[in-house]
Amino acid sequence: MDIVQQIKKHAAGFPDRTAFQYAGQRLTYSELDLYSDRLAAYLTLKTPDTRPEIVVYGHKHPYMLVSFIACIKAGLAYCPVDISMPTERVRDILSATAAPFVLSTETLPDLNAGQDTWKMTGEVLTLDTLQQIAEDDRLTADPSRMLSPEDICYIIFTSGSTGKPKGVQIPYGCLCRFAAWGLTLGTTPAEKEGKRFLNQAPFSFDLSVMDLYLSLTSGGTLCVLEKSIQAQYKALFERLKEYQPQVWVSTPSFAEVCLADPGFSGELLPEMELFLFCGERLTNRTAEKLLQRFPKARVMNTYGPTESTVAVTEVEVTPELLEAEDPLPVGTARPGTTLLIVSEEGTPLPDGTPGEIVITGDTLSSGYFHAEELTRKAFRPCTLTDASGNAKTVTGYHTGDEGYLKEGMLFYNGRIDLQIKLHGYRIELSDIENNLLKLGGVEQACVVPSLREGRVNQLHAFVVVKERTEENDRKEAARLKTELGALLPEYMIPRKIHFVSQIPMTPNGKADRRALKEMLG
Ligand code: AMP
Repeated sequence: MDIVQQIKKHAAGFPDRTAFQYAGQRLTYSELDLYSDRLAAYLTLKTPDTRPEIVVYGHKHPYMLVSFIACIKAGLAYCPVDISMPTERVRDILSATAAPFVLSTETLPDLNAGQDTWKMTGEVLTLDTLQQIAEDDRLTADPSRMLSPEDICYIIFTSGSTGKPKGVQIPYGCLCRFAAWGLTLGTTPAEKEGKRFLNQAPFSFDLSVMDLYLSLTSGGTLCVLEKSIQAQYKALFERLKEYQPQVWVSTPSFAEVCLADPGFSGELLPEMELFLFCGERLTNRTAEKLLQRFPKARVMNTYGPTESTVAVTEVEVTPELLEAEDPLPVGTARPGTTLLIVSEEGTPLPDGTPGEIVITGDTLSSGYFHAEELTRKAFRPCTLTDASGNAKTVTGYHTGDEGYLKEGMLFYNGRIDLQIKLHGYRIELSDIENNLLKLGGVEQACVVPSLREGRVNQLHAFVVVKERTEENDRKEAARLKTELGALLPEYMIPRKIHFVSQIPMTPNGKADRRALKEMLG
């Protein structure tokens, strides 16, 4: 399946159907196809001999979608950046990609402010300009510029342990194969045709790839929830009622926020058919509540990192499964993916034995953007042996997740490193620590998560500062949080800052995270 061909087919078949619905604005399939053609033609004219990366900045605006599809049509990789990213991170991404164009539906922060050596070189195409290009009927796209399956389609930047974000590159073929499989989740592709899909995640988070491309390939309508509305029950529920989504795609955390209100049920959303979850642990309690409140809907758990194109496993959560398994499994591998469980030495482990989850198959990222060392560490050769004993060497992505297999069913135990998930967001604890160390007076920093129901619910930073007076702790904590806010997205700011005179050490000289967790009680 080719995503662009699918969009063209829908634009021809039902030109006036809404492809994208957002806070009172709509974009039809014919508009999406036409506008993205013209923007692709414009980008092609501007980059006749090169294939640079393009940054798309904004928050869920219909023109972000136009920009994504235009990049695909112009043979260019796009890099989505959400407005919730602080200036420093946007700057990091722009310097890493050296993007000659930033397609921006919102006002960009002043990226040159306070910079002596770095200057932004890319040209910003504002929303006005994007709209003018979209209206320009002299522009026609050159179909020969389209991405081929091996070309990078998008780069999503995630938290990196060094304190700088790392870019996961996904080839177009991986995206198309993911979408083809995604259409089979829970209901058949035919049953998904023309449905209303809910979008919760920002476009810079790979979960959004699931709703965006499943909706577009099935001729559906993407019903977008902007971030501000997600925190206000009344407005959120009114919007949900207006949208009447039929396919729900979110993190379990977001569903839990909604479930906290007894009004979130099949009475509010009688057309709901399917819940698709990914990105963090789906608890038995949440799945059970959903099945009770939405008796006509199916609940699917899926698992996967950004590096494997959103998700590679699936399982339907039925009352029988809830009865049999607690915690719930994350599913069996999609066709085209093979999962391995390996020991610390990289040896494959038998069924039932926990080890690191390694993913192989035809939706794996081609590696991190301009980061060979990181790529080599995470994407390593591994041997697969088929039923007749034939062995072949393939690339395996070492997820850093611990789990085990039981007759093909994958169970997820947690992380083996310092990456965590908080409300669905992927965070490297050392990313926060390295940024804390950049702040004046901070000598040592260690961030530990506190858990509720097996999931991270808060981050705590233990900090050693140069000069400490206890009366000043509160003021100092507020200062650190504010300064950290300029470097990191809001969801990465530790809720609590504890000042300590020293960080306890393990016998081999590492920060003793267990001792710090115990200090939290
Ligand atoms: P991201 O790249 O942001 O999608 O984060 C990927 C990580 O999220 C995985 O490596 C897991 O640690 C976690 N994750 C994804 N799906 C699930 C799931 N269904 N259950 C538990 N953890 C998950």
